[in-house]
Order: sequence, then structure tokens, then C-alpha cells
Amino acid sequence: MTDLAARFRFVLVRTSHPGNIGSAARAIRTMGFTRLDLVRPERFPHREADALAAGAADVLAAASVHETMADGLAGASFVLGLSARRRGVNLEELDPREGVARALAAAARGEQVALVFGNERTGLENEELARCHAMVRIPSVEDYSSLNLAQAVQVMAYELRVALLADAAPPAPVAQDEPPADAAKMEQFFHHLAATLDDIEFHKGREPTTIMLRLRRLFQRAQPDERELRILHGILADAQRMAGLARRPGS
Ligand code: SAH
Repeated sequence: MTDLAARFRFVLVRTSHPGNIGSAARAIRTMGFTRLDLVRPERFPHREADALAAGAADVLAAASVHETMADGLAGASFVLGLSARRRGVNLEELDPREGVARALAAAARGEQVALVFGNERTGLENEELARCHAMVRIPSVEDYSSLNLAQAVQVMAYELRVALLADAAPPAPVAQDEPPADAAKMEQFFHHLAATLDDIEFHKGREPTTIMLRLRRLFQRAQPDERELRILHGILADAQRMAGLARRPGS
């Protein structure tokens, strides 16, 4: 996972609030990313950036500052532009998961990937979006669609991490350590259960059919394995033994 994560960079363009730069550093660092590129930040370095980066001071210290977006994107061959609004550019619009899937595919081919975020007030300009291969819109509500910059960074970093973890996860084990009980073993268990309910006088004159059907459904749903059935048989056997003792004259 680390190899792939190193191919991603987060590019913040014309950021006004240094606090957002610090928060963005923290957001990416918690998700396993380290590369932050700043294109013409209004104020940087700044104590508010340091304060909000908290434990991600390493990311902030390593952040490079660029004069142009082209410099910030140098070496990247797949670029996603994050925008809250549709712009007048003819750019494919993806949701975060589609964007992440495409970005991951590019990284897996050995490409470097950039995620670009705009200024807090104005977002990404058309000519900035024009440098992107696709636009990603986080599906916020229509009447208030703009997230805080660092929070938009967090959403994307999180989605990327989830996708990277899923890629790295070993396939789910197929074999259970104990085989599930087969139909015959389940049938034995239901007989034992029915006999025990009689022994403890559970039915008290009522017809047992309905309750037995319900209990069948309950245990079928649980799909017990053989070890679990052995435990249940043990409990039933003890209940029968106690019922036998209770029936003994003089007890
Ligand atoms: N008024 C600006 C909002 C900028 S918010 C606009 O309409 O774009 C600062 C940055 O955060 C944006 O440029 C974008 O990169 C990111 N951002 C905020 N909300 C977003 C959303 N819903 N989807 C995608 N990116 C978003």
C-alpha cells in the first residue's frame, strides 16, 4: 500500500487560510499520504498552519510551494480537479468513488496522480480545471454544496485509503475451521430439542407444532457449525438430567 500511496499528491491552489493548509496536512497524513503541494498560497508558512497540522508537522515541513499550477503538477499524468459546482468546462464529472477508482488504476500503472483543490471563495478557475483529466464533485446538498477545503481533502484522502486497503486485503478465507452442520445433524438437534422441551414440561398442554417451527427457523438462520451444535446438545442433555432429578420421588 505504501508504494501506491507515495504516487499521490494533494495540490492546494491559491489557498487563503493558512489554517486550512495545516488541516489538510493533518487530513492526508492520517490517511497514509505525505505529499502536499501548494500553488501560490496567500500566507505560508504561517503559525496557524503549524497549529492545525498538529502531529502532521512533517507533511507541512516537506510541502513544496509553487508559482504555477504546472509546476505543482510536474510529473503527474493523471489529475483530478475537485469542484463543488459544475463549471463551464467540458470535463467529465465523477463522484469521489469513481474518481478514486480511476486514480488508483493510474497509480497501479506506475503513474503519478494529483488531486487538486481550489481557493476557499472562488474554487478552481476554468483554466485550472482545464488542466485536469476529470472533475470530482462530492455529492453535497444543492443549496449549500461547498465543503470546507480541508474537509474536502479529508473526504478524498479517506476514500483513497479505503480503496487502497481493499486492494491490499488478502482474499476472505473460504474454508471455515469447523464445517457447518448438515441437514441430518440439524434434524438430530431438533429431535433432542423437542424431547427436552417435553421433559421440562415447557408446552403445558399446548400443541408444540408452531413453537417447534419457530425454533427451527431460529436455528436454521443461525447456521450453527458442528462444534456449536455439540454445545447445544450438551446444554439440552443437562436440562434433561435436571428434569429427571426433579421428577424423582422425594425431591
Ligand atoms: N465556492 C467555491 C467553494 C470552494 S471550497 C466553489 O464553488 O468551488 C474550496 C475547495 O474545496 C473547492 O475548490 C474544492 O476543491 C473543494 N470542495 C469543496 N466542496 C466540494 C464538493 N462538494 N465537491 C468537490 N470539491 C469540493
